[in-house]
Amino acid sequence: MRQVHIGRRLARPLARTSLLVRYGVISGLLVLCLALALGYVLASTVYDRALAQSEQTAANIAQLAVGPLLQRDDFDQGAVAPERRERLTGAMETLVAHRTVVRVKIFDRTGTVLFADDPDLIGQRFPEDPHLQAALGGQRSSDLDEPDSAENASEASLGGRLLEVYVPIRKSTAAGADRDVVGAFEIYLPYEPVASSAEADARRLVLWLAGGLVVLWAVLFQLVAAASRRLREYAREQAERAQHDALTGLPNRVLLADRANQALLVSRRSGTSTALLIADLDRLKEVNDTLGHHFGDLLISAVGARLRGELREADTVARLGGDKFAVLLPEVIGVDAALEVADRLVAAMRTPFDIDDVSLETGATLGLASYPEHGRDVVRLLQCADVAMYAAKSDRRAVRVYDRSMDAFTPDRLALFGELRRAIENDELSVHYQPQVDINSGQVTGVEGLVRWQHTVHGLLPPDDFIPLAEHTGLIRPLTWSVLRMAARACQRWRAAGLDLTVAVNLSVRSLLDEDLVAQLDHLLADAGLPASALELEITETTVMADPERSLAVLADLRGLGVRLSIDDYGTGQASLAYLNRLPVDTLKIDRSFVIAMLGSSNDAAIVRSTIELSRSLGLGVVAEGVETEQTWQRLRELGCDAAQGNWLAGPAPADSVPDLVRRLERRLGGAPARA
Ligand code: C2E
Ligand code: MG
Ligand code: MG
Repeated sequence: MRQVHIGRRLARPLARTSLLVRYGVISGLLVLCLALALGYVLASTVYDRALAQSEQTAANIAQLAVGPLLQRDDFDQGAVAPERRERLTGAMETLVAHRTVVRVKIFDRTGTVLFADDPDLIGQRFPEDPHLQAALGGQRSSDLDEPDSAENASEASLGGRLLEVYVPIRKSTAAGADRDVVGAFEIYLPYEPVASSAEADARRLVLWLAGGLVVLWAVLFQLVAAASRRLREYAREQAERAQHDALTGLPNRVLLADRANQALLVSRRSGTSTALLIADLDRLKEVNDTLGHHFGDLLISAVGARLRGELREADTVARLGGDKFAVLLPEVIGVDAALEVADRLVAAMRTPFDIDDVSLETGATLGLASYPEHGRDVVRLLQCADVAMYAAKSDRRAVRVYDRSMDAFTPDRLALFGELRRAIENDELSVHYQPQVDINSGQVTGVEGLVRWQHTVHGLLPPDDFIPLAEHTGLIRPLTWSVLRMAARACQRWRAAGLDLTVAVNLSVRSLLDEDLVAQLDHLLADAGLPASALELEITETTVMADPERSLAVLADLRGLGVRLSIDDYGTGQASLAYLNRLPVDTLKIDRSFVIAMLGSSNDAAIVRSTIELSRSLGLGVVAEGVETEQTWQRLRELGCDAAQGNWLAGPAPADSVPDLVRRLERRLGGAPARA
């Protein structure tokens, strides 16, 4: 158990150390082992060679300096003849005086000393000595002396370690044929000079070897360190790229989520708030379309830098793509503090951007969501901030803080929003037209354009499924213009074919308050070659009441243009009669809910009747929507209603089938054809 703990304790720091350090240590150890092994081999080779050289020296002395002074007889008789002994002693003394040898012994075949420089040794026997035996067998051998051995007892006094070399002595027989081994020399050489020269050689070699290996290790380490540094830099660059937006260099969605998670952890511990803002840049499309994408890119970069400049070091500005940025404010005091930052950012975005000497004006719409009030995780907070941003766009406000009432902007709705935007841009919406019939003449006087969306998954969607979304998100403006263009073109085609029809288009509040509405309508009618009187705009009481004064002015301008105006869904809103009286409208359209129910409900019947009377007294035309039966049609005629629209007459139909539909309907009602 304890061992396992210690093992783990050692393994942990090792696992933490960098690969490079591990490489350095392991390769260093390997090089050290190699150095030791090579050093050992080299040193022993040097020593062996030094010994071999000494052996050879000894053999040379034996054969050249001592051997010739002996004769075979000396061995056969077991004693060196006196005259030769004298010469031997002389030669010995010379060698010893030069310190070439320290001692010489000459043995006969029985291992008896025949001659030695120390006369006391003559006659002693060492038949057991293995080296002597080897020499007598014809083999040269050597040994470092062992002073404690019997044979070397007399050499102990000579001082220092000695190298003994045994050399066989060969002499010819009397006949002179064979050179038999007749005895052996034992020559003692001083070992210290041999050892110190070998030691010096070995030391030099080992030092060179060690130096070489250290240099080799250092060069390899340098190379590996450089490669590892380059790899680390590359890995860091890759990681940076995966977490940053290429255009602005700001964090991308991945890094934002990471930092937001960290911030939420801190907030959870410290009890502070974390705020998330989503900013949508205004007018980027215009810049791209008019000045090119290069300018658009420069603008986005400049916006990123400016946002960054307005914030604390600890805050994060991220680009989510396109013209969308996100701002993470960790550890804020609360929603109000975050809102102050949001206001500051909005103000900063309003200052024009100088790009390549062009002053670009833009702005941003911000949505704000905060932990813990609106969401407890990053995904939810991003969603809420997104929803708040679209709500702000819808209300034409610069900043909005998320609240539950905005939940119409659920993720499903937001997905639908993206699709609707694409559908509008790609002209995938269509308009169906429903006839309005003059009750007295049975003549079709006009049609109402009703938008449809052929959705790839959900099929043909009615306007109630997407108009509210378009109204909340600002998409209603491009949608209305698209419907207006289609309706004007269709109406112009019918008129060219001889059908004198007006076309009515529904206008929501956002479109009515559109600053360029009147001017653009003028263009649109001119482009379509349609007189203004052929266009009718339907607005509801609620639309008008959103901004009564503005509405009044716009309606007056529209009237001035010659466009016809009607109040749609009359009876469902809260407009006061006095106010209605001031509106420059031509027609009231009674809401279909009253008309559908008028035969069965006296209340609804009363509303229909009073609306008809009111129109009369105000001098307005009156149209009943939702005529589903012939009885309703008859009753409306009796009540003096001017016109009717409803499924009993005809449901909404595509533009191309309108001429046929009109002719069939008029034939059915026996009315005069709607011809110019
Ligand atoms: P709305 O302007 O009051 O249009 C009349 C609606 O009543 C149409 O519904 C029409 O199909 C329906 N209708 C007609 N006759 C009958 C009938 O006999 N019985 C019944 N039950 N319904 C009948 P639709 O096409 O679904 O349009 C609904 C609403 O969507 C429209 O009400 C209008 O407020 C809005 N809308 C339609 N197109 C547009 C548009 O282009 N722009 C805007 N802003 N709103 C539009
Ligand atoms: Mg309408
Ligand atoms: Mg209506």
